[in-house]
Amino acid sequence: MAGPADWPDALTQWYHQRQRTLPWRNQSPTDPYPIWVSEIMLQQTQVDTVIPYFNRFMAAFPTVAELANADEDAVLKLWAGLGYYSRARNLHAAAKQIAQTGWPTQYTQLKQLPGLGFYTAAAVASLAFGEPVPVVDGNVIRVFTRFFGLPEDSTTQRMKTDLFDRLLPAIQNQKPADFNQAMMELGALVCKPKNPNCPDCPLRSECFATINNQIEHLPNRPARKKVPHYHVGIGVIQHNNRVLIGKRKKEQMLGGLWEFPGGKQLPDESLPETVVREVYEETGLTVECTTAIASINHAYSHFKITVHAYWCTLVSGTATPITTDALRWVSLSELHQYPFPTASVKIIHHLHPT
Ligand code: SF4
Repeated sequence: MAGPADWPDALTQWYHQRQRTLPWRNQSPTDPYPIWVSEIMLQQTQVDTVIPYFNRFMAAFPTVAELANADEDAVLKLWAGLGYYSRARNLHAAAKQIAQTGWPTQYTQLKQLPGLGFYTAAAVASLAFGEPVPVVDGNVIRVFTRFFGLPEDSTTQRMKTDLFDRLLPAIQNQKPADFNQAMMELGALVCKPKNPNCPDCPLRSECFATINNQIEHLPNRPARKKVPHYHVGIGVIQHNNRVLIGKRKKEQMLGGLWEFPGGKQLPDESLPETVVREVYEETGLTVECTTAIASINHAYSHFKITVHAYWCTLVSGTATPITTDALRWVSLSELHQYPFPTASVKIIHHLHPT
């Protein structure tokens, strides 16, 4: 059982016995490229979901140079369904930078790359380059707010900085890659959000939460506000055996992905009226809604939507990319070549020519 000073030893010993086999961990454990790709994919996403995406991504772009030279649509296509698409665009932008200047090898330099924040920079610096900087992700926050007994709001940057400062001395006498992966692995396998398996935990003899029976109160996560729910009308405009799709502007949410024109329903507006208005505002086309295709629900982190899709016919006008980066007429069989957000993919599954 761990004593006051040796919990970091107990933790890394536990990791050596219990670590899982994961594709990015075992191929070439100090290659920064797979470490970086996997850590970006794992943000907000479960390991089981990430594994097939990671394998497909690495097969398509086995090196940072190949990712740098890839077309953005190809990168987004391989990301489609993982969400938080700015991660993919930043990964692509950072790859271009690394291909020109080489890998920065220090935490403070890594943090300058697009999309590498506090957490990912520490993960790459420690796992690939052996720098003793602790990672502070959701798992680490849960384990160590319990271990140290920190009752403050666990969702703030202040808490991350506090934990970073508390863990910095502990990692100094450890192998940084093992210590960091041990913390994350303990959170994933033992110190789970509900019913942590304390009898199996290498930290139990020093853990504030288990000694003081505070597990249910830590970490302190203030209740989330109720997320708004929007209704969205979209038009699948048929013309000459093709349908119209638009590429979202880079700076928008889901930027760079393709979608059918449409948008949020306004008060006192029917859904077909929404579609006709939105199509005109986005493309300059006047259309008429003919039949409903499907309605699907989708949840993002800060809001939910119900998307109502309609077949439309063209009445007049020439397609002009007013609010998008590009518009394209494509056949239904070509749709799979484009990266779409998950809500659009759900609609595409309902599309059969009328
Ligand atoms: S003893 Fe229990 S609560 Fe404390 S770190 Fe281990 S699993 Fe988490």
